[in-house]
Amino acid sequence: MPLPTDFQFSQSSLQDFVDCPRRFELRYILKQKWPAVQTEPVMDFEHHMEIGTRFHRLVHQHVLGIPDDVLEAGIADPDLLKWWQVFLRYDPLKDLPHPRQPEYRLAAIFANPPLVAQYDLLSIDVGHTAIIMDWKTSARRPSSAFLKDRLQSHLYPFLLVLAGERLNNGIPFEPGQIEMHYWFPCAPDKPEIIDYTKDKYIKDQAFFAALINQINATPDGNFMLTTNEKKCKYCEYRSLCNRGIAAGDWQDIEDIDVAPQTDVPLDIEQIGDIVF
Ligand code: SF4
Repeated sequence: MPLPTDFQFSQSSLQDFVDCPRRFELRYILKQKWPAVQTEPVMDFEHHMEIGTRFHRLVHQHVLGIPDDVLEAGIADPDLLKWWQVFLRYDPLKDLPHPRQPEYRLAAIFANPPLVAQYDLLSIDVGHTAIIMDWKTSARRPSSAFLKDRLQSHLYPFLLVLAGERLNNGIPFEPGQIEMHYWFPCAPDKPEIIDYTKDKYIKDQAFFAALINQINATPDGNFMLTTNEKKCKYCEYRSLCNRGIAAGDWQDIEDIDVAPQTDVPLDIEQIGDIVF
């Protein structure tokens, strides 16, 4: 079965395929709704997801110049207020260059369907440096090894090299000019900084090309269930796959994907083609 016509490869969908091909098929090809909870306790997790999304929006508004006291006056949730005050106290933006582009979307016709990313913040010193900032609102700080292994840590800098020349006076960024920074309200003094290099770029290029070819070439009925049953712990398809009924504790999740500020698919015609 072909991918839906408006489908775009993102770090989430590619990570889903790597974690479990069957999850990719159920979620993006079959668009299967399944009434299982992803985590326990459900209400706590939903609250955490909600304030994660609101935290991203607050930082977006802060970068756009809305006064901090105005933003703070609108925060009623004590957990969100704590994150916000930690953000202001540690100010992870203080040494970052300008211009800054919050919630910036990029796409490239690297393969079919295209690759897309929505960056929490891009901070650019034109001609010199590009810092990718990403806010991680999980309950505990993920390990460095986990973060370095995530496809996001590869796709975001890779796509910025491929498609970011508009942010750099029309000149593509060199891989060595890019850094990825993760910042955590739960561990504000322990950011993760991952550099990017030409060598990583070459490896990522080969990796993403092979991965996308593999997805496109997988016939119906051959999206296999993962053999790593730990991946099923937080998956809503557990009962469908006969992989257990009880959900894992959300506080153990190392990476929580908050909803993007907009889920409208990127209009590739407006981005411009990157032919490879
Ligand atoms: S429950 Fe497990 S096997 Fe089934 S889709 Fe989810 S991760 Fe894959």
